[in-house]
Amino acid sequence: MHVLSDILLEDHLKCSSKSYLHLQGRSGRATDYSVLCSQLDASYRAGVAHWLAAQSTGRVSRFGGSRLQSLTSSDAIILDAVGEADGLETHFDGLQRISSGSRLGTYQYRPIRFCRQMQPNSAIYLLLAFDALVLRHLQGVSPEHGVLLCGPTFRRITVRLRKHAHSLAAVLTRLRLQIASANEPPLVLNRHCEMCEFKQLCRDKAVEADNLTLLRGMTLKEMARHNSKGIFSVKQLSYTFRPRRPALQAALG
Ligand code: SF4
Repeated sequence: MHVLSDILLEDHLKCSSKSYLHLQGRSGRATDYSVLCSQLDASYRAGVAHWLAAQSTGRVSRFGGSRLQSLTSSDAIILDAVGEADGLETHFDGLQRISSGSRLGTYQYRPIRFCRQMQPNSAIYLLLAFDALVLRHLQGVSPEHGVLLCGPTFRRITVRLRKHAHSLAAVLTRLRLQIASANEPPLVLNRHCEMCEFKQLCRDKAVEADNLTLLRGMTLKEMARHNSKGIFSVKQLSYTFRPRRPALQAALG
């Protein structure tokens, strides 16, 4: 069984072609921009983890990216640990112990995610909800809230996780379908392409097929609408344009 990880989920949220290519075992060349972002992210994570540990009055344990075997040690804060349960795997930036019953006893954990940007995007909320889903399997109850620490001031946002459960379930269903199928999703160039490791591969593919996605601003919905009329390439679409009639042109000046 393929483990469904937060990394794969994040890929899928950015672009279904990206998760498809990774599922096919493909890898590309990291762009300079993505390398820079990874370095900034790593440095941000270290800073916020340090700050979080300093805030805690209880015991803090750091896992350094290794696997969490259990949650029974009841540390007040757990940092940088990987949790796995029921075919799901996630990297917890942090876990915070709170007083509330669970399979662990009189306490449970809630997830914390770090976000370098001041304004988290919708993907971060779904990733936090995914952390909570893994936690539910590990502690027997779903935490009601999660926490985002954002931007240079570590702005704290408390997130009501139930609000995102429905969207997460829908995305996970789509992702599971993709895992189970060998079908390649339609190629849609998007904002993430500029920093994506598959930038050149997808660009070449789109140019070779004269794919409609080469047109700036072309959405999946619009492409589907054109495809339903038998239009699949930029050239085919260009045949549908008619020059303006002279009278109309004159009227328009
Ligand atoms: S280059 Fe663009 S279309 Fe290709 S996988 Fe990356 S984000 Fe998706």
